[in-house]
Amino acid sequence: MPVKVAREVIASVKGCDSVPNRYVEDLIILKSFDIVAQRLAPPTGKSSISSSFPSNRQTGFNVLTAEISHETNSFSLQETDEQAFLSRYVLTGAEAISERGEANTELAGFLDTGRAHGWQIKHVLSAAAGPSGKVRRTTFDWLCDPIVSMIKQHPFDGILLGLHGAMDLDFSEDGEGELLRRIREVVGQDMPIAITLDPHANVSKQMCDLADIIVSFKTYPHVDMRDTGRQAGEILHRTMAGEIKPHTIRVSRPMLEEVNGGRTDIGPMIERMEAAATYELQADVFAVSINAGFASADILEVGPTVLVTGQGNFAAHTAFAETIADDIWNRRHEVLNDYLSVDEAAAIAATYEPTDGPLIIADYADNPGAGGYGDSTELLRAMLDAGVGNACFGPMVDGEVVQQLHSVAVGERVQILLGGKTDARFGGGPLGLEVELVSLSDGHFTGDGPMIHGLKGSFGPTVVIRIGSIEILVVTIARQILDLQQFKTFGIDPQSKSVVALKSMQHFRSAFEPISGKIIVCDSGALCTPHYERLPYRNVPRPIFPLDEAENGFVS
Ligand SMILES: [Zn+2]
Repeated sequence: MPVKVAREVIASVKGCDSVPNRYVEDLIILKSFDIVAQRLAPPTGKSSISSSFPSNRQTGFNVLTAEISHETNSFSLQETDEQAFLSRYVLTGAEAISERGEANTELAGFLDTGRAHGWQIKHVLSAAAGPSGKVRRTTFDWLCDPIVSMIKQHPFDGILLGLHGAMDLDFSEDGEGELLRRIREVVGQDMPIAITLDPHANVSKQMCDLADIIVSFKTYPHVDMRDTGRQAGEILHRTMAGEIKPHTIRVSRPMLEEVNGGRTDIGPMIERMEAAATYELQADVFAVSINAGFASADILEVGPTVLVTGQGNFAAHTAFAETIADDIWNRRHEVLNDYLSVDEAAAIAATYEPTDGPLIIADYADNPGAGGYGDSTELLRAMLDAGVGNACFGPMVDGEVVQQLHSVAVGERVQILLGGKTDARFGGGPLGLEVELVSLSDGHFTGDGPMIHGLKGSFGPTVVIRIGSIEILVVTIARQILDLQQFKTFGIDPQSKSVVALKSMQHFRSAFEPISGKIIVCDSGALCTPHYERLPYRNVPRPIFPLDEAENGFVS
């Protein structure tokens, strides 16, 4: 079972955070960091791939590494600029290694491989922004130029990149493909390039043409980032050593997403992942990646893909990928989540007895982890209307209210206009409330759950307010709830509540399922609603499931 295996190898970690401006300067002057691989401590986890390869040259490879991650929600009104990345993290060379090099990250997996094989690594940068609108050209250049410049300055044997795979630019639908194109322009066709992806990647043909090796995470909730980094690194090593010559093929289906978003804890993806793992055991197969896609991208190459990175009999590899894709298509109606209305969810919450733990209500549609604004008020409104008690709710993204309350004394009661300010069409308008200010903070937290253990993060300036017996986490920077510390750090103990309402689609399960008595999922009508017909798609190919699914089947 991939999830179980991945959970067993989660490493001890050290985190990342929003970044002071001095790092921007570092980035511009290409302050890179050379690692002498042998000097570093030995890896803390196990690699599942053999490191014994028959080749003339096995060590001393010069490898460039970098991480750039953005999942672009085409429908978001929020442009993605440099500040959006700085609000999450932009870390150059040594800083990135210090913050992320021992965490459950792709970079940690790259470094593990480098240590095992005596690589000389130059790590350029690690950068990510929260999911939001299209990335500006100037911002994209700002991130990519240091990588391209480093490649021009040094002779490398291989390139290893940790990417998300759903980056949409204001001048191109394929951000990762554009980065790879710029790199290939410098290094030509022969340099081995390996990339890792999030399975919520929309993988373009260009990406498969330009990267020899592609490996996606195998879990959702994502808990195998370091493993994935190692797997990609090992394949790259074998390629640099001349043992193998991999290429990646891709098959797709006309769907906005793999139904269930690619859940790997239950449902059909478990069998698909097992089939992929079995196929990976063949000598000429190095990675099978099953990507659920990212449905909030209004682009031509949207949707689920199956990739095989291998060599030899590509007709057989393609046939295998087609069987997985057929299964995805044939079982497209098997929706695992029961998307309740907010009023249905609130009604359940109002009478819930927390004998076995709290009721968790996930607001699927306002997940900041998919580009939701995090300021949808509909679920909170329904909970207040239903008289739900002993509850917590988070996050509500509203920097204006946070600012207003930072000049108020703790314990005071204040009139506020909460949430719903970005686009009331998706998830409701502001709520006029009288609330009590419970606490103020800078919003920093350090995770302790399976996904972000030891990693630092920040909501920006944050307050906790109380109305009735509902405590609400109001934050400045939108982030998905996927770790208990995102409540606990701010004095809210989810385990002591009857009801925990949070904004997340699936990632919350890794930390919250163990403490929960029951989990329900609702659709608040916010930007990431599973009702795709509400979104103004213009660029996706038609017909596409489910937009063109008529009563009698797919309309083609
Ligand atoms: Zn993902």
